[in-house]
Amino acid sequence: PRYDIDGLKAKLAGIKTEDNANLVRQKSRDFYWYSPTLKRQLDHVVGDLIVSPVSEQEVVRVLAAAHELGIPVTPRGTGTGNYGQAMPLSGGVVLDLSGMNKVLTVQPGRFVAEAGAVIADIDKVARPQAQEIRMHPSTYATASVGGFIAGGSGGVGSITWGGLRDAGNVIRLKVVTMEAKPRVLELTGDDLAKVAHAYGTNGIITEVEMPLGPAYPWTDLFLGFDSFERAAAFANLLGEADGIAKKNVAVIAAPAPQTYFLRHQDYMAPGQHVVVAVVADFAVDAALNLAAKEGAELLLRSDKLADEERRKLPPGFELTWNHTTLRALRVDPAITYLQVLYPFPDQVKLSASIAERFGDELISHLEFVRFDGKVTCFGLPMVRFTTEERLEEIMKIHEDMGAPIFNPHRYTLEEGGMKQTDAVQLAFKKEADPQGLLNPGKMIAWEDPSYDYNAGGTFLFKGLAAEA
Ligand code: FAD
Repeated sequence: PRYDIDGLKAKLAGIKTEDNANLVRQKSRDFYWYSPTLKRQLDHVVGDLIVSPVSEQEVVRVLAAAHELGIPVTPRGTGTGNYGQAMPLSGGVVLDLSGMNKVLTVQPGRFVAEAGAVIADIDKVARPQAQEIRMHPSTYATASVGGFIAGGSGGVGSITWGGLRDAGNVIRLKVVTMEAKPRVLELTGDDLAKVAHAYGTNGIITEVEMPLGPAYPWTDLFLGFDSFERAAAFANLLGEADGIAKKNVAVIAAPAPQTYFLRHQDYMAPGQHVVVAVVADFAVDAALNLAAKEGAELLLRSDKLADEERRKLPPGFELTWNHTTLRALRVDPAITYLQVLYPFPDQVKLSASIAERFGDELISHLEFVRFDGKVTCFGLPMVRFTTEERLEEIMKIHEDMGAPIFNPHRYTLEEGGMKQTDAVQLAFKKEADPQGLLNPGKMIAWEDPSYDYNAGGTFLFKGLAAEA
């Protein structure tokens, strides 16, 4: 055996552990299989033991024991990440935080919850006070809030509030370090950047404080357009219409709505590109007036559906973000996807010229957001996959045309994101995880400080290569 798992279990008496091979395998994976590249690289990855603490004291005990025995620890919320973030590349412990799921307090404008709390469950406590979380991934119903902060970026709500990285969207985090005597730290302000979106490589988040916004009754609007560019232009206008309270504005190009939105097919018109907007009930008229002026056809508004019909449909946001890709994959397993930024101020024209450049090979999907305060859009275009080489080529063409890619076919922080060392996260790892035991293989800056991001290769974690 790679590690002294029996020794670890002996030290963890009283804490829930699981070593049933099937269950360990299940909890060693996430939604990495969205990517044919990650599927090839990570399919064999499996941990040795699941440990499920239910309190901060238990997390401290687990980290101290694993530190003493030199066993890697990979945190896991509910495993809905898309890049193998929560997969234990070097084996060891999968630290399942889903049992730390208490919503501790809800006050005007803020909540405190344990990191494993499912986001929808936080809203169940906040809604009776007419409040709700301001921003959530489309995996609202299943994702943990700690996993969102450690592994996600934004989503539903980002059209109004920007991304997780924007100041003010996280208030405070409690973090446990991986040392002989683990410390419990409270991070606020600029210090949040040390562990936010670090994939759990430099501390275990145990408690989260985040803002709440008004919980309006929300209406889903589906609007059809004959031209993709006009759909994108309308979505941009709606994004800029600050009086219209909204939480999501997506554009999904034909033929995806008609082919992949199986439960909505009856409402779709052939050939149309569809804007899926989630708008406060009081702003529906204003949104529809704007849509009519821009040449939209109203396909569906959820507030006019009979209860029985409405119950048959998923919420509109579950057709957006990576749920669009999921629905496509269920119909056509040969689909994969990209993550693109169309920078302000050319987002509408640029997204349209890229759509035109690729034709049928790529089905456009835009998500409008506030980015650095400006309305612009991300894209999660669906790609008809042929080869990994062609996928790389498609990404290169995007970048050459002025649309940066956040590569969803890489498991490292750097290659998925900014393609350079995050000095703040690296410095914090040296302090909080000096033995490099937290989620090994995900931070290139730690594994190989001299790695050349411009050499055009793909980082291959040595620990992973040895196993494959
Ligand atoms: P996990 O997948 O369990 O973990 C994510 C990362 O965080 C891992 O690196 C893990 O090690 C680390 N981690 C987890 N908990 C902790 C902790 N307590 N302390 C330290 N590190 C921790 N993401 C978005 O941002 N926006 C979207 O709109 C979105 N839509 C999605 C749609 C679909 C259909 C799918 C499959 C995924 C989508 N995602 C999206 C990705 C993912 O669902 C979210 O980021 C989600 O919030 C992750 O939460 P989780 O609990 O599943 O985290």
